[in-house]
Amino acid sequence: MVTIDQVIDKLSTVIDPDLKKDIVSMGMIKDLELDSDNLKFTLELTTPACPFNVEIEDDVRRAIGEIGDLKNFDMNVTAKVMEGRSLDEDTGMVTVKNIIGVASGKGGVGKSTVSLNLALALSQTGAKVGLLDADIYGPSIPLMLGMKDGYMEVEDNKLQPADSNGLKVVSFGFFAEQSHQAAIYRGPIISGILRQFLVDTNWSNLDYLIVDLPPGTGDIPLTLAQTIPITGILVITTPQDVASNVAVKAIGMFEKLNVPILGVVENMSHFACPTCSDKHYIFGDGGAKKISEQFNMPFLGEIPLNSGIMSGSDLGRPIMIASPESPSAVAFKSAARNIAAQCSILAARLQQEASATEEQVQDGPDGSARDDPGSSIGQVMTSTISATVDAPQDGRMQ
Ligand code: ADP
Repeated sequence: MVTIDQVIDKLSTVIDPDLKKDIVSMGMIKDLELDSDNLKFTLELTTPACPFNVEIEDDVRRAIGEIGDLKNFDMNVTAKVMEGRSLDEDTGMVTVKNIIGVASGKGGVGKSTVSLNLALALSQTGAKVGLLDADIYGPSIPLMLGMKDGYMEVEDNKLQPADSNGLKVVSFGFFAEQSHQAAIYRGPIISGILRQFLVDTNWSNLDYLIVDLPPGTGDIPLTLAQTIPITGILVITTPQDVASNVAVKAIGMFEKLNVPILGVVENMSHFACPTCSDKHYIFGDGGAKKISEQFNMPFLGEIPLNSGIMSGSDLGRPIMIASPESPSAVAFKSAARNIAAQCSILAARLQQEASATEEQVQDGPDGSARDDPGSSIGQVMTSTISATVDAPQDGRMQ
């Protein structure tokens, strides 16, 4: 007869390559049932966009296969995005699990284009995604989504985001009259608008909210960092020194404010020649990699220079919609997965910090841990067996 301990021991050998922890202690095994050598459980991945989801699933099947004496094995695979920010400290946006600010040092590096296509790439994995165009002085997202005449309703004193291609979208560009006057808005007015977009909007349940920030270190990035806890900042740059040198200033500001940096994505990285398929580094080579090394932050992807990206944006048909299998779209998908992985890593760190604080509270005054016979495997089993899973079987989020 196979025992629960045998199953748990085997499952504990499977390590999540991003989180560097075994899937049992990360609580990824739910609803485990073992009855007369018939084994059933749910594998709950940390995000549908994890780059290692297939690898983890394969490792679990291999580990269970090594048990041998099972009659039946039934695994349901789902994904539930982890909370990458402290919701305890946030009363205004408790339904949003992760907030990712997209920043650049200077304008024109493709920050809005990248924000939009990354949001679409995440959404296409099945995650629930919102896009906040926080570039109040020059909102470009409505144009890029073909929503020039879009608008937002107000219901029960809450802004209702517009829907586009599965995304919940908020932009100052939807307020046509006011947006013409935005150039004269300064400090408190600008901060007030952003706060309303964040906390007075009915975002509903979101796994990821992408916030497209204006370039530089002005009032808007500052307000974002100071209003709500966010998961982290994604830095967009182009290969030229002139762009990466300015990006460094934005990174410095967020670091001073103790906002985590998720990593850097290089846009217009190279031109992939359609005839010779060589990569041409028109704007130089390695700007973002230099930043990633200098600040010890992950390099999360490189997006090629491609006229299809530009024309798609201008026509309101982003490349992730117009040509989802093109090399540019594949580059966005890969960057989106890396970003989702960074969010999970930060979420796991938050969880660890929270449980360390809890343990400290539970420890006696002399700091010695209380004797708890229910800890380790026994505790893991109780929580996994009794847990319920609400995501559907195909691994997509509802
Ligand atoms: P930012 O938000 O940094 O000011 P935008 O996203 O508005 O920049 O992009 C500036 C211009 O560059 C737009 O015309 C956009 O279509 C184009 N663009 C952005 N990324 C690419 C790319 N990878 N390849 C080709 N054109 C791009």
